Amino acid sequence: MLQRTLLLLTMVMLLIAGTPHPQPAAAQEGCTIDTTLRRTRYEINAVLDWSTKVVQVTQTIRYRNDYDQDLTELVLHSEPHRLSRANVMTFRSAQTEDGQFIEGVTVDKLRFTVPLPEAVPSGCDVVVTLVYDINVKPLSDENPLGWLAYTERQLNLGHWFPTVGLYGYETAGEWYVPDRHYIGEQTAPELADYRVTMQVNNGPAGLQVIAPGTVSQAGNTWTMQLNGARDFAISMSTQFQKTTEAVGDVTVELYTYPTETPASIAQAMTDATQALAVYSDLFGAYPFERLVVVEGDFDDGYEFSGFVFVSEAWFRTWNGTPNHWLTIITIHEIAHQWWYMLVANDQARDPYLDEAFATYSELLYFEATNPDLVQAWWDFRVFRYDTTDPVDITVYEYTQWRPYINAAYLRGVRMLQAVREAVGDEVFFQWLHDYAHDYQGQVASPHDLWQMLPDADYLLISDIRSQYLRNGDILEK
Ligand SMILES: [Zn+2]
Repeated sequence: MLQRTLLLLTMVMLLIAGTPHPQPAAAQEGCTIDTTLRRTRYEINAVLDWSTKVVQVTQTIRYRNDYDQDLTELVLHSEPHRLSRANVMTFRSAQTEDGQFIEGVTVDKLRFTVPLPEAVPSGCDVVVTLVYDINVKPLSDENPLGWLAYTERQLNLGHWFPTVGLYGYETAGEWYVPDRHYIGEQTAPELADYRVTMQVNNGPAGLQVIAPGTVSQAGNTWTMQLNGARDFAISMSTQFQKTTEAVGDVTVELYTYPTETPASIAQAMTDATQALAVYSDLFGAYPFERLVVVEGDFDDGYEFSGFVFVSEAWFRTWNGTPNHWLTIITIHEIAHQWWYMLVANDQARDPYLDEAFATYSELLYFEATNPDLVQAWWDFRVFRYDTTDPVDITVYEYTQWRPYINAAYLRGVRMLQAVREAVGDEVFFQWLHDYAHDYQGQVASPHDLWQMLPDADYLLISDIRSQYLRNGDILEK
């Protein structure tokens, strides 16, 4: 809500300022005040040397100052500086739009600060070009997060470049970047447009570069564009086999390895297409023309915008049933297209907003497609684990994955089910739908979520809130 108010204030101020002095900001170099453009735009030109797995990146960031004060620095969130990502990024330089080198760039954990040589007024674009290398490392115990790593048959670039932090999210007039940690996720990404060229030198014959949005290839260079997304992920391999299926206007593309059985591939495709249909019905339209599902050559699964990974382990160990981990992880990561991609949240401080919702969406999938499996899902996914931890924990309170998942994901599911039983299906599903609709494109907070529930229902569930949440009385009602 804070961001929305600030934006509105800024627009009002621009209108007021614009009356006596037409477009005062437009006289500044770099000013746009073209509010039809998205606030944050990235243009990335990358050259990957396949023989060394080093990506030389030139990244131009355009960020419109939508606020009512000058910006004196641009603060980025650098996922390549995540814990366990030692020396992944080698920073070279930062420049202004007219080529002036910027001194004093600092990186403190995930916080990548670029001081601006001249303050950028409200309504103008901050334009900064960063030059750096991304040294993609092999997947290993020291580098266990496979979405930015390579294996013998796959190279992945996920969360591989710095993105703009949140201005005014926590405190008006200040930048916010989550602190880093080794459990859970720590992104809180602003919606942005991405234009990426990827030139691959010394690459193998038949290399495939898989990405969301539009992709075109000319020789060894791929040009890609994705608008209105939280991130931009790429996966490369020479071995992908492509399967496609349409769901309305959306094409689901599944990329798997030749080692997988046709039946497991068919199962994953059924899960992906049905999940897309079920979640679009319940939560609102999926925002892209393509949904890319890639068999990840690493554990578990992971969500990106218009793109998800599902582990090779779930294909390899698939036992022929329609509720194996293959199904659960496929539909879970696709549910994140709503609970992360469409409505984002601070994954570090409010992880239940995406994880409890994505996990609860698994239940909704089985209810809609295979009700006979609902009880088995509860038993397998939720009832095996128990905790009394609050649902609204932060990732920083945990040193191990399992207790964190038990609280944010699984006790979160129990809480959502209790709310549903108390308010009834009609109110519950309207709540989810309205929350997704009203906060699409934003970074939502628990306050935003709970204030979408009608007052009477919010009061009705006060016992549930106090049972499951540490900050259950988040609204004053
Ligand atoms: Zn998840």
